[in-house]
Amino acid sequence: MAGEKKVKLAFYWAATCGGCDVATLDIEERILDVAAIADIVFWPVAMDFKYEDVEKLEDGSVDVCIFNGAVRLSEHEEVAKLLRRKSKVMVAFGSCACFGGIPGLANVADKEQIFNIAYKETVSTENPEGVTPQTESEVDGKKLTLPAFFDEVFPLDRVVDVDYYVPGCPPAVERINDLVGIVAKYAETGELPPKGTVIASEKTLCDECPRKREEKRIKEIRRPQDFMPDLETCLLEQGLICLGPATRGGCGARCIKANMPCRGCYGPTAAVRDHGASALSAIASVLGLDEEAEMTEEQLTALIDQIKDPLGTFYRFTLPSALINKVVRKKEVE
Ligand code: SF4
Ligand code: SF4
Ligand code: SF4
Repeated sequence: MAGEKKVKLAFYWAATCGGCDVATLDIEERILDVAAIADIVFWPVAMDFKYEDVEKLEDGSVDVCIFNGAVRLSEHEEVAKLLRRKSKVMVAFGSCACFGGIPGLANVADKEQIFNIAYKETVSTENPEGVTPQTESEVDGKKLTLPAFFDEVFPLDRVVDVDYYVPGCPPAVERINDLVGIVAKYAETGELPPKGTVIASEKTLCDECPRKREEKRIKEIRRPQDFMPDLETCLLEQGLICLGPATRGGCGARCIKANMPCRGCYGPTAAVRDHGASALSAIASVLGLDEEAEMTEEQLTALIDQIKDPLGTFYRFTLPSALINKVVRKKEVE
């Protein structure tokens, strides 16, 4: 690049809540730095671009594509592949793109089950003919092919090669600023970090958490609405399920500072393949379940029963990229 021209940036949102696009604007005045070093060639949420505008670009002519949202529809996969072809660098931005995110919790159900609930079974649904979205449609005599709804939600790297990951739901402003810094350095020198870099901490959230820990065991699980936690003591030691021991740091412990436990949106550290399993094992050890031989079966069951919605608790952001995803899907099919 060597500084003589602006970086060409593309943004895209797939299965997303829009929060990642809003977070991009949270960098406030640094957006001016972006404007100084970059030309935006595609950003559907903010500007009127069409897919054919992207198709007309030369392959490899976009420098950096920042892709948020999971892959739920055939349209998301097609645009991901198109943008991958056009872009030198592909960034998975946000937990949905990195791991499948909250939309990925739908992987416990297949397409038919989802359609039945959404279009037929909710109390507020009035749909006597049971109409559900179709891939073929006709409007004013013209045949239209609409995007297919996949049976499964995928993280971005299951459909295209990804160069960098910026986790978080949404990513913290500081880490977005790090990404801006990387793009600025690329514009200036052509240098990039090693492929596969996760723009966050290499350590766990507990390593950046300011709370006191005494590594004591807990005998019951509590929920945030049940009491006002002490502001200085580890939330896990106060009985709240905090996924800090298993979650990658980098968010600045923002939930912890608001006196709420970590839900795990930064996903696992590099040392861990399955975030939920790692979190479950950390919680089990604090609960003393590794000493289960000393507990009666009733005590053990009573303790485990206190964890409401285990799948949503331990895999809230990472189910599609977890090993357990395949097991859940297989069990559903049987
Ligand atoms: S990562 Fe979070 S904020 Fe970003 S699109 Fe997904 S749900 Fe929304
Ligand atoms: S478990 Fe949660 S509250 Fe406790 S130290 Fe780790 S991040 Fe902080
Ligand atoms: S504390 Fe946990 S859930 Fe909250 S932003 Fe950080 S990683 Fe995400």
